[in-house]
Amino acid sequence: MKQYDVVVVGGGIHGAGVLQAAAAAGHSTLLIERLGLASGTSSRSSKLIHGGLRYLESGQFALVRESLRERAIHLRIAAELVELKPFFIPVYRDTRRRPWQLKLGLWMYALLGGFDASTRFGAVPKREWPSLDGLKTQGLEAVIRYHDAQTDDALLTRAVVQSALSLGAELAMPASFTRATLTEDAVAVVYDQNGSSMECTARVLVNAAGPWAPHVGGAIQPAIPIPDVDLVQGAHIVLPFPVTAGIYYVESPTDGRAVFVMPWHGATLIGTTETPYRGEPDKVHPLPEEEEYLLAVARHYFPDFGHLTREHITQRFAGLRVLPAATQAAFDRSRETIFTADREPKPRVLGIYGGKLTGWRAAAAHVLERISVSLPARPRRAATDQLILRRPL
Ligand SMILES: Cc1cc2nc3c(=O)[nH]c(=O)nc-3n(C[C@H](O)[C@H](O)[C@H](O)COP(=O)(O)OP(=O)(O)OC[C@H]3O[C@@H](n4cnc5c(N)ncnc54)[C@H](O)[C@@H]3O)c2cc1C
Repeated sequence: MKQYDVVVVGGGIHGAGVLQAAAAAGHSTLLIERLGLASGTSSRSSKLIHGGLRYLESGQFALVRESLRERAIHLRIAAELVELKPFFIPVYRDTRRRPWQLKLGLWMYALLGGFDASTRFGAVPKREWPSLDGLKTQGLEAVIRYHDAQTDDALLTRAVVQSALSLGAELAMPASFTRATLTEDAVAVVYDQNGSSMECTARVLVNAAGPWAPHVGGAIQPAIPIPDVDLVQGAHIVLPFPVTAGIYYVESPTDGRAVFVMPWHGATLIGTTETPYRGEPDKVHPLPEEEEYLLAVARHYFPDFGHLTREHITQRFAGLRVLPAATQAAFDRSRETIFTADREPKPRVLGIYGGKLTGWRAAAAHVLERISVSLPARPRRAATDQLILRRPL
């Protein structure tokens, strides 16, 4: 039976990141992915590598600082995949956040980002408003411009796996984790591949199965702690009329939530929503009312989109956020990643719940730090903040 230092379940961005970090640290490592790389949440995000300006309002300063640091690292190591873009926040007479509040927030954003060139911000002069994709000017008082980054989440995930494979990592795909049994210092892992039941052992099993993580965790014997999480659906729609100047960060006319209107492959991507989800993660899909909610944003801010209906939507997708269980609105809940070990100080299983696309490398580094006590010392092959990520073929 094959023996690995680390076996990872789930080929989303977190599984990809842990695979790369483990291989870079010199460990033998296998990724088990059921369908295809980034087939879950990691192809259904808003595709932003960002500090998360709005998290300042809920006081998540450490998250914003880490995300801005990761954004800077992406711009250096993944220049083929991550691009800095102008973001525009239009402020109308009735917009909840006033220009001074936005400028204060952006000043803090710049501070947490170390005041580097990418954190510059300011008001767009009125004479330039006509270049803003037909943005509604009635009642418009100011447009604030700052910068954040956009990527292709699925390509980024594949690029990280490609990097891991070049360091000697292995991939079982399509292959579905079915169960695992813990022994004193190892894990016996069983998975299905091509209709056959396969077995291997791991010093540590990393559960990076995104919204399926509670299910994967529940298939481990003896039972391990599984955090109490909620699944919250987020939908996006694509409209065949492109915005090109940059990414618009607007308040929904329905409930004031922040929504992004983004250029995407010659069209416009609009998202997202927050709808509590209780079904099977496999069955998530955008609801008609979510599509109407997002269309209302397009129609409200871009009079040229005024005639658009659900029939004009060319693409739609929904993903699931994994958030700490709570009664408060999803929008206000912590976006910090939850890491759970089966035991301390020598974990055999480490689960990753929630988190951000932006933070995958930092999350993977954290996982490696937590599990290093359970792993043999190996000669390091590389540092993940130095490995250049190439656009996958
Ligand atoms: C609507 C929405 C918008 C978002 N926008 C952003 C954003 O703009 N920027 C940002 O930084 N973050 C964003 N996020 C967060 C980010 O997308 C997620 O944190 C990240 O993609 C989660 O990745 P993951 O690897 O944990 O899970 P996933 O990508 O879901 O990967 C889990 C994988 O596990 C596999 N799997 C499941 N069960 C098994 C099994 N039994 N055997 C083998 N494999 C299995 C699945 O097939 C899947 O590929 C957004 C999230 C949502 C929902």
